[in-house]
Amino acid sequence: MAKKIRRIGVMTSGGDSPGMNAAIRAVVRACAYYHTECIGFYRGYQGMIEGDYMEMNARSVQNIITRGGTILKSARSKEFLTKEGRQKAADNLKKAEVDAMILIGGDGTFRGGKIFNEEHHIPIIGVPGTIDNDINGTNYTIGFDTALNTVVEAIDKIRDTASSHNRLFFIEVMGRDAGFIALNSGIGAGAEEILIPEENLGLDRLLDSLERSRRSGKTSSIVVVSEGDKIGKNVFELAEYVKENLPDYDAKVTVLGHIQRGGSPSCFDRVLASRLCVRAVELLLDGQKNLMVGFVNNRVEACSLDQALKSKHKINKDLLRISDILST
Ligand code: ATP
Repeated sequence: MAKKIRRIGVMTSGGDSPGMNAAIRAVVRACAYYHTECIGFYRGYQGMIEGDYMEMNARSVQNIITRGGTILKSARSKEFLTKEGRQKAADNLKKAEVDAMILIGGDGTFRGGKIFNEEHHIPIIGVPGTIDNDINGTNYTIGFDTALNTVVEAIDKIRDTASSHNRLFFIEVMGRDAGFIALNSGIGAGAEEILIPEENLGLDRLLDSLERSRRSGKTSSIVVVSEGDKIGKNVFELAEYVKENLPDYDAKVTVLGHIQRGGSPSCFDRVLASRLCVRAVELLLDGQKNLMVGFVNNRVEACSLDQALKSKHKINKDLLRISDILST
């Protein structure tokens, strides 16, 4: 019979994302509701290795639902990649009498959690918290919606200055391996072109499209570029290439960078984090383990960690077609 869960640990790991605080709050409050103790580990796996944690109760998480970042801090822990590091983490969980863990992070965090469970048999539930939206088993990850809103707001402002000066702007957004942010913000902000890691649209096509835009009388052009776009040139090289080939264009570059990770979470991310984390606590109390909670077709669903890690959530390539039609 599964051991009764009396004490749950929670941590945030990998890149931080807006909504992680709403997720921590929901874990802590659900634990309080179900009369289960809760402790929060600082800096993800590193805090587990160092035994760095705090006891949490319903009042420890007041007024954090509105805040970006994570009150538990996040980290990438090299030590956890080693068997010895994971042993230290397991020893500390035992000392702190933690029966199960809720891990809020991305696929690296879940990979670490899976190995940890195989070695030390501590039940875990993963909650997808990353702005990249690239996790299999959920339509949305916590932080993606807020990041999109941040990007669209920034592009709207750049559009104002671009159209005042008839300029072309290349805007780099996050997404080294996944084009979700570029595709969705590109459509949301009415970009002329969107370059993503999943699809090589080619430099000729980019030049053709910009030339067409200019001839059709557009007063500004925006190209949204994912950090890891497949053409293989970085955003500055792309701008140079266009300047050389289309000298009529005054091409500028903006790299949005880490503003995409910050800010108060959107209502969507707050509700998503709340729903996923209440379910995560309920699953553990119900004796379930080694699952990831996700949001699929408007419902909270759990899948195995293996399933979540098997492949990446794929972009909807129809969005490229929609963008093409609308940038006419
Ligand atoms: P993001 O998507 O925002 O980058 P992530 O969770 O994928 O988030 P990672 O840095 O890949 O971020 O992983 C977080 C931590 O998980 C790592 O720093 C490491 O401690 C642990 N981890 C990742 N992969 C493994 C692994 N194969 N074995 C053990 N631990 C791992």
